[in-house]
Amino acid sequence: MDQPLSPGVRRYVDKANELSARRAEFRRGVRTLKFDTIAVHGAYGMEEAFGEGQGGVVEPIFLSTSQAYRDSDEMEAGLGYLIPTWCYSRIHNPTVFYLEETLALLESYGCRDDASALCTSSGMAAIKQAVEPLLAKTREGHEEITFVSCAQVYGGSFQLFNVRMRERGAIVRWVAEPWRMEEWEKLVDASTRFLYIEMPSNPQQACGDLAALAELAHRHGIPLVVDATVATPALMRPLAHGADIVVHSLTKSIGGGGHTIGGAIIAHRDLTSRHLADEAKHDYATWLKLWPFRDSGPCMNPFAAFLLLNDLRTLRIRMEWVSRNTEKVAEFLSHHRKVTHVDYLGLPGHQLHGLARRYMAMVDTSTPMFGHLMAFNIRGSHGDTRTFFDNLKRIYRATDLGRIKSVATIPAISTHKQQGEDARKLAGVPPTMVRLCVGGEHPDDVIADLDQALAKI
Ligand code: PLP
Repeated sequence: MDQPLSPGVRRYVDKANELSARRAEFRRGVRTLKFDTIAVHGAYGMEEAFGEGQGGVVEPIFLSTSQAYRDSDEMEAGLGYLIPTWCYSRIHNPTVFYLEETLALLESYGCRDDASALCTSSGMAAIKQAVEPLLAKTREGHEEITFVSCAQVYGGSFQLFNVRMRERGAIVRWVAEPWRMEEWEKLVDASTRFLYIEMPSNPQQACGDLAALAELAHRHGIPLVVDATVATPALMRPLAHGADIVVHSLTKSIGGGGHTIGGAIIAHRDLTSRHLADEAKHDYATWLKLWPFRDSGPCMNPFAAFLLLNDLRTLRIRMEWVSRNTEKVAEFLSHHRKVTHVDYLGLPGHQLHGLARRYMAMVDTSTPMFGHLMAFNIRGSHGDTRTFFDNLKRIYRATDLGRIKSVATIPAISTHKQQGEDARKLAGVPPTMVRLCVGGEHPDDVIADLDQALAKI
C-alpha cells in the first residue's frame, strides 16, 4: 500500500488539480475551433502566453534538460506523476507538449472522442514505440505472437516488422493487396495482436478500407494502427473512421520545411486491445510516455518541436497547394510515352481512386485531395530509369519526401533497397519505379524538368 500523501505533497496536488481543471476547460474550448485555428494556435492560449510564455506570441523553446522543483514535496509529487510535470526532457518537455497537444487536436478533429499524442525522435521511433507493447508476451510459455500488415509500407517499417520484430519472436503476416478485405480476414486469428496499414503507402499509393479494417480489428479485440504520414490530418484522419492508433513521420509533409526528423503517436482513449492492461488502454499515448518510452528514451528534442509547430501552422494550405500541383504533374506523366504506369490516387483512372475518395478530402470541405507523393514507372530498363533520374535539373535526388521543394528517388536503390528483391516484388516496387514528391514550385516548371529528363532516355 502506498503511504498517504504528506500535507506538503497534498498542497502541490491540490494546486495542480486546479490548473489541470483550467487546462481541461481550455482544451474543450479549443476542440470546438476550426482546423486552421487549431493548427495556428494549438494549445498555446493567452493564459499560457502571459504566464510561462511571458507574452511571447509563439510558444517558447524550453531548451533545458530538466525541471527544478521548489522543494522535496513538489519533487515527490512530480516524480510520482501526481501533478502535471515535465521532470526531465527524456520524459517530457513543455515545447514538445505544445506540439503533442496540437497534433492530438488535429488528428481527433471532428471526432467525438478525445485523443492524446506522444512525440518521438523519428517516425521509425514512433512506429516501434506504438507497436512494441502490443506484442508483449502475456503469459509464461511460448505463445504464438503475430500481427497483420499491408506489404506496402515504407522500407524502414518493412525491415522493422520483418527483421527486428521477428528477432523478438513476433511474426508479421503480409497482406499483398490491402484493398481486398478477404486477404486481411484470412490472416487474422487468435495470435494476432494488431492490424497495421500505411495509407496511402510510400511509394505505391496502396490503400485499404479503413472503416472495414477497424471493424475487423475490433471484432477480434485488437487495435488498428495506421501510418498516415503521407496524408497528414489535413487530408485524412483515421481515428474518425475507427482506427485506434495513428503514427506519423513528422519529418515529411507535417514538417514540410525539411529542417528536422520527428515522429508522433496519436491514440484515442480506451482503445480496443484484449492484450493491454486497462491502465495502458485508457490513455495509450500518455501511458507510453510515462512508462515504456521513458525507459527507452527515443525522445524529441524541444528545438525540433518548435520547428515542427511552426510548419504545422500552414499545413492545410500547403497540402492544398502541393496536391493541386501534383494532380497536374500526374496528369502529364500519365500521358507520356516513356512512362508505363503512374500511381497517384488523384488520377480518376487509378484503380484505388474510388476507395481513396471515401477517406481523403481537404479538411472542412468535401473536395477529394490526395497529397503530393506519387510513383511512376519508366518504360525501359533500370539503366534508363537512372539516366532519367540523373538528368533531373531542378527536382532534387534525395531519399526524402514532403518537402516544399520537389524531390525524387528510385526506391529500389534507396528507401526499399534493404528489404531485398523478393520483398520488393511483394510490395510492388520494381527497379524502374521513380518516387516523386511534388513541391510548391509552379507545376509547369516541374513538368518541364521531368520532360527534359525523360527526353534523355
Ligand atoms: N512512415 C512513412 C510512410 C515514411 O515514409 C517514413 C520515412 O520515409 C517513415 C514512416 C519513417 O520516418 P522517419 O524517417 O521520420 O523515421
